[in-house]
Amino acid sequence: MSDRFTGNFTQQEAIPEEGIEAALAVLRHGRLHRYNLAEGELGEAALLEQDFAALTGARYCLAVASGGYALGAALRALGVGPGEPVLTNAFTLAPVPGAIAALGARPVFVETTEELTIDLDDLAEKAGEARVLMLSHMRGHIADMDRLTEVCREAGLILVEDCAHTMGARWNGVPSGRHGVIGCYSTQTYKHANSGEGGLLITDDEGLAARMILLSGSYMLYERHLAAPGPEAFENLRYEVPNISGRMDNLRAAILRPQLSRLEARAADWLERYRALEAGLWGAPGITLPHRPEAEAFVGSSFQFLALDWPEDRLAELVSRAGARGVELKWFGAETPRGFTSRYDHWHYAAPLPLRRTDRVLKGLMDLRLPLTFTVEDCQLIARILHEEIAALAP
Ligand SMILES: *Cc1c(COP(=O)(O)O)cnc(C)c1O
Repeated sequence: MSDRFTGNFTQQEAIPEEGIEAALAVLRHGRLHRYNLAEGELGEAALLEQDFAALTGARYCLAVASGGYALGAALRALGVGPGEPVLTNAFTLAPVPGAIAALGARPVFVETTEELTIDLDDLAEKAGEARVLMLSHMRGHIADMDRLTEVCREAGLILVEDCAHTMGARWNGVPSGRHGVIGCYSTQTYKHANSGEGGLLITDDEGLAARMILLSGSYMLYERHLAAPGPEAFENLRYEVPNISGRMDNLRAAILRPQLSRLEARAADWLERYRALEAGLWGAPGITLPHRPEAEAFVGSSFQFLALDWPEDRLAELVSRAGARGVELKWFGAETPRGFTSRYDHWHYAAPLPLRRTDRVLKGLMDLRLPLTFTVEDCQLIARILHEEIAALAP
């Protein structure tokens, strides 16, 4: 009888007790709206922004309603408008092209390497076609940021980072989200901090910070922020920037603050699980594992492997056999989008052009979530099951 895994791939950890206590305090006083403050009170949302700015070393931070809202606010603050081409990864999640398309702008997709990062040669070729690059560190894989920022600098491309999967990660010691003009994060349940829904924005640019705060719906109460520019930064903008409400509330912020202080410890736990899977799959026939460069301090909250050039029926069979043993593989090569897993050519609103290298990679790409409710032994068992099924099916 072969082993079977019985864990739940979508079960995240509980909210820390400290967060539950803080949330209850907000519920008991009832001031959930971020600007609804008692005399002398600072408010959880403003404190969260202060905490996250300190954590990343950014001058300014804004908490918003979702990661997707953060991406949209960043693009709006940069003046991206209808018809404008915006470069982005072909391998990403739907809210990224969605944020671009929501502005009437046009996503222009860049190829994907076998390391699952943006293809810097293709980026260099397309750099002249746009003003902004919305870079998605999809599944936590960080491109060579030294070379990438050089390509952007040479072409005059403005870099915005989508750090939905890299909160807590670093490249050469620099926190992910600090290589571009704006860093965007998600605190949705499946990301590295969990408030159900939520997002964060960071920047060092005073004008962009003021615009994003006004956009989020600050009702001229921006002086109640603790990680914002001074009132003079808002003087000329307050009549110009429309209110597109997307604030975070004090309840979510209260839940998040204790999670941020645990981020580093949790990243270490994730890495241990990632390495256990990696070790267990090492040498499995017919697959390749992404190489993780020395400079990349990643958060291993998910795991990917490539079964490049396998026939489609073998790939489908692998998903089904692993599934029968309790290991839930997400396959990016499937014909139709399923759940969170979709592919650039499913995003018809973006009128994507075919990308040959990306197609080959996504066709053979398998993806697993690694929630921290899994133990290292769980990850070893998952790897053992996958290794056996891969060995049985490898062409
Ligand atoms: C989750 C996610 C987002 C957006 O987050 P939401 O909070 O769900 O809007 C953006 N980019 C990537 C890569 C994501 O996975």
